[in-house]
Amino acid sequence: MYQKSKTLLKEQGLAASKKLGQNFLVHEHTAQRIVDFVELSKEDTVLEIGVGLGALTRPLAEAAGQVLGLEADSGIIRLHEEQGDLPENVHLMHQDVLKADYDELVQLSQGKKLKIIANLPYSISSPFLFQLIEQHEQIDFAVIMLQKEVALRLLAQPGTKEYGVPTVMLGTVATVKMLMHVGPEEFHPRPKVDSAVIRLSFDPLPERAAALGNFDRKLLKTIVSSTFGQRRKTLLNGLASAGLLSKDVLRECINEAELLPSVRAEQLTLETFVRLAQIIKTRLA
Ligand code: SAM
Repeated sequence: MYQKSKTLLKEQGLAASKKLGQNFLVHEHTAQRIVDFVELSKEDTVLEIGVGLGALTRPLAEAAGQVLGLEADSGIIRLHEEQGDLPENVHLMHQDVLKADYDELVQLSQGKKLKIIANLPYSISSPFLFQLIEQHEQIDFAVIMLQKEVALRLLAQPGTKEYGVPTVMLGTVATVKMLMHVGPEEFHPRPKVDSAVIRLSFDPLPERAAALGNFDRKLLKTIVSSTFGQRRKTLLNGLASAGLLSKDVLRECINEAELLPSVRAEQLTLETFVRLAQIIKTRLA
């Protein structure tokens, strides 16, 4: 596949775009291993983000009934249209995933929650993850390849430097599992960093997330972002920086949550953050 992808790009006058995070998988067996993790049947429609030259798309089309393939690069769309090189059950769409309408994607997926697979352009990992969190009710699972460092942040435990806003926010909707590590030699062109494939399971909602009760997700994000944004500051000072309530009222909220004002954000569990958001919400009303 390596030589093929290089030659194909050259023939078509295309160069791998850095801006679009184009690092194409070059070994068929690696693509197949990733697809095997997804466990698809011919009843399934799977949504692939970033089709590229089709390394994952082809084995996906073999395993699933239908592949909805999103691709932002018009040069790549043209290439597949001209070459007719993708299997018939692939529905290729020229679409930036960050602007996608998830209701529409669910409809195209026979009204079923989305099964997503992506070798992500690293430049969009963060907005894409927050999009998944926002759209979690529309998603069954996502198997995604991303920068190993980002994957480790999503899997991090409280009290570590990797633990942060995405860990907490994702924890409210999904469980995260490490599937495999992937080295730079698996791509053309080679990225400077290591990669990892992880699975995010949204449905059923993980027990831990279901036990959280009702909370205002937007408020939680404001709280988590402001406190982690000021990582070295105390919880009280971090919270105060969000400008939601006076310091005195915030001190009372922290007390009610049975915390010390001097505690740091990275020591708080998901459950404690949610509890704090619930308390602060009552004071905002
Ligand atoms: N799936 C292919 C593979 O594994 O070899 C390509 C993976 S490459 C890392 C990422 C692909 O996503 C590229 O083809 C790129 O053009 C496309 N892409 C980049 N930004 C995108 C976006 N916002 N929406 C959809 N596709 C995007």
